[in-house]
Order: sequence, then structure tokens, then C-alpha cells
Amino acid sequence: MKTYENYIAGAWQPSSSGETCESIHPATGHPVARTQSSTPQDVERAVAAARSAFESTDWPNTSNLRSRALSAWADAIEQHKEALARLLSEENGKPIREARIEIASAIDALRYNSIMARNVFGRTFHPTPDAYGFLVREPIGVVAVITPWNWPVLLLMRDLAPCLAAGNVAIVKPAERTGAITAALFELAAELGLFPPGVLQLVTGKGRVVGDALVESPDVDMVAFTGSTEVGQGIMAKASRGIKKVALELGGKSPNVVFADSHLERAVSTACRSVFMTSGQICMAGSRLLVEASVYEDALALAKSYAESLRVGMPLDESTEMGPVISETQLQTILSFIEEGRRRGRIITGGRRLTQPPYDRGNFIEPTVIADVPVNCSVVQEEIFGPVLVVERFTSEEEAVRLANATRYGLVAGIWTQDLNRAFRVARRLQAGTVWLNGYNRNYAEAESGGYKMSGLGRSRGIEGLYEFTELKHIHLTLDV
Ligand code: NAD
Repeated sequence: MKTYENYIAGAWQPSSSGETCESIHPATGHPVARTQSSTPQDVERAVAAARSAFESTDWPNTSNLRSRALSAWADAIEQHKEALARLLSEENGKPIREARIEIASAIDALRYNSIMARNVFGRTFHPTPDAYGFLVREPIGVVAVITPWNWPVLLLMRDLAPCLAAGNVAIVKPAERTGAITAALFELAAELGLFPPGVLQLVTGKGRVVGDALVESPDVDMVAFTGSTEVGQGIMAKASRGIKKVALELGGKSPNVVFADSHLERAVSTACRSVFMTSGQICMAGSRLLVEASVYEDALALAKSYAESLRVGMPLDESTEMGPVISETQLQTILSFIEEGRRRGRIITGGRRLTQPPYDRGNFIEPTVIADVPVNCSVVQEEIFGPVLVVERFTSEEEAVRLANATRYGLVAGIWTQDLNRAFRVARRLQAGTVWLNGYNRNYAEAESGGYKMSGLGRSRGIEGLYEFTELKHIHLTLDV
């Protein structure tokens, strides 16, 4: 079994703790790889190397160097994409077909940002004959990029690629469960020799140790975090002491609002696909299906049939559509939400752990559909992060909007109707960073995404996503005229 080290100051090195942690295959319980259990001292070394790289290399002020490095990294990942997809699937448990999509999306994020590295422009203005203003965009400095395990490759690149493109230097702290796939990507970057030492660094380990040390370090200028709302709140509170910039991509509990005039089969199957993908462990999961009363029972029947036809299986099996969930703890959390749904509503299908072979050694759970729960029930309010769809009923457009907005989250939403006037009207009233009309989960490297309310702060992807990683400076010139 391979042991990955930290990548600090351009060299692979073990943690000062001498300890490692294992990532465990969620479908079999077997260890997949080892990564370092790093310490605050490791973080200190990485931060010092990052600061020195930011201050003494050409990286922050040479855009074609950055563009070339990002583009070459994308090419290297492309060349190794199948091996990377397999490692991702083994470490995270996601079906191999989904792992391939994730790797391809990460390559796309790198390529987009390799172009954007050469497009960081400012503005000028000329308010009086003697005055010229130059608004220039500068990199922020040392950025900690803290990532989750659910889409560990794409979500890494979604922040890291614009962070580097803008001229910053980065220290990456991946989730413990997906340290190996992150390190494998770093191996490819290191081999290129295009990132000056200290520009791109990896420190693996526990959130409460490595993550905390990065957030608390006075020499880290910004924290880009993707993960749970609770951890994001803690990071924001700690970062406030140093008025440190934060970009937060947090949890979601996203609705698909389905009107009676929609293409019902398409709406329900798209919503189901979005919540059963990655076994529901996806921030943008369409975990709430709000259906107009006249087609409610039809929608329930369609959701039941979709869930029951889903092929749950081993991640590396090409025919698998849904794999296990990440851990036993996560599985137990999901089961307790399901029990609450059973108590306060109706289980339409699923609801149990799968225990017969070949599922007996992994964290497998049935695709589950719950209906008829009140809006204040935890299965409607909380992000379950499991393959659980909650179906709710509405009788008017007004009620649909009220229900859709009735959680603390505001990440994304879908609206399904043939009436474009209504689609736009409702889209403007939903509190969500992205609203898809007659579709769902359509994301692009060039289109911003991010959360309203407690789903986050700032935007990732696109031009705004790049600008999150810049400071804006006004340089003013007074002329003798
Ligand atoms: P998590 O919040 O538990 O962990 C995320 C990362 O933060 C990990 O690397 C973890 O080690 C680190 N961390 C934990 N405690 C920390 C601390 N005190 N200080 C600094 N870092 C710390 O989340 P997770 O379980 O890995 O991922 C699932 C969550 O992420 C879900 O809530 C999901 O919705 C959210 N998510 C959001 C998006 C988005 O784009 N909005 C995308 C993916 C996942």
C-alpha cells in the first residue's frame, strides 16, 4: 500500500509527527493508501515556504508562467485520467463512471483558468484633466485551500486553479478520507517542474489540527473553504480575528419545484439523478422535490420507480449507478434521518441498510424516497448527505416559493414548467445562487456558482470566482497640466 507524503517547499517529506492515517475503501473496508497526519509545525514550514515564494519568485507577476503551468498540469492529468479515476473511486466509493466525469471536470477547470491567468485586467478612469485612476487587481498572497471528500478533485481545482491563476501561492489541506487522490494530483504537478518551490504545497491531516493551524496562521492571507456550514462558521469566526479574507462554499438543501404543466417524467428523473448521484453526498443534490398537488401522486410513483431501478453496486463495476456512502458514521446519520422521516411521514421506497453480499462489508444504503413530512421536519430542513429524496406538495405558486425558501440554505434550485413567464417570475424569488429552468446540475467553468444564506459566501468559477482571489488597488496619478 502506498504512503503519500506532504509536499512542502518543492520536496516530498513526512510529517514531523511520524504518524500516518489510512483511507478506507467505503465498499469493502480495505485500506487504500496512507497519508501524513500532519502537525502545526508542518503547517508552519509550509507557510514560511509559501511566504518566501510569494515574495521572491516570478510567480505572482508573470502571467504566462502561471498559464503554462496550469495548462501543463491539465495535460498531465489528462494523460493519467483512468488511473486517477480508479484511485478516486476506490478512496471515495463513487462509481467509476462518475469518477471519470469528475476528473474531466477538474481538467476543464484547470484549462479555463490557464486562459484566465492571462486575463486579469483592471480598469482606468480619468475624472478631471489632471487625474488618472488605475484600478489594478493584485494577488492576495498565501491562500489556504481546504477541501471536502465528496468531489475532492473537482472541488480542489474549482478553488485552486483560479487561486493560482490570479498569482497567489497555495497550501492545500484535503479531507482526510481523500488525501491520496489529492496527493496523486500533486505528484503530477511536481514532476512538471513548472511550479516554483513553495507556490503549490500539500499538507494532509486532521481538520482540527492542520485546518485550524492554517486558519490561525498570521501569515495566511485568505482561506478558501469548501465543506459543511458548521465548520465554515468556525473558520469565519477564527478568520475574523485577523480580518482574513474567506471564500466559503457550504452545505445545501436544494429544491426542484415542479409545476403540473411540466414534463413530469423528465423533472422527476432529473431530480432523482441529482440526489442519488454520489449516493446523495453532493452539495447541489436536489434533495427536495416540491410538486404541485394535481400531479403529486404521479411524481411519487415516478420517483419510486426510479429509485427501485437504480443499480447499487461496487464502485469499479462499470454498470454501477450508485455506490456506498463514505463511512459507517455517515451511514448511521443517514439512517437516523430516515427514522425521523418514517415517524413524521411516509417512506415510499428504500430506507434500509443493504447487508447481504456483496454489500455486507461496505456502507451501502437503499435509495430512499420520503413523502408527506411537515416542512419543519429535520429531513426537510437538514442536509442529510445521503441518498434520500423528500417529496413535498404545494397548491399555488405562492406556496411553492414559500416552501422552497423555507430552509437556512440557498445553494441551488430547479424550476420545472412550460410557462416561461412563471419560470422567470419564480426564479427571481428563489433564494439560491443558481436556478436552473427545466434542468438541473448544469455547471460550467465559466459560470459563477455559490450560496445565498448559510450556503456560503462569495462565488466560485467564472470571472467572479477568479476575482475572489484578488485584491483591488487604486493607484492615482496627478499630472501637472
Ligand atoms: P467538513 O466541513 O467536515 O470538512 C471539510 C474540510 O474541512 C475537510 O478538509 C476537513 O478536514 C476540514 N476541517 C474540519 N474541521 C476543520 C477546522 N476546525 N478548521 C479547518 N478545517 C477543518 O465537510 P465534509 O464532510 O468533508 O464535506 C461535506 C460538506 O461539504 C457538506 O456539508 C457539503 O454540502 C459541503 N460541500 C459544499 C460544496 C459547495 O460547493 N457549496 C461542495 C461540496 C461539499
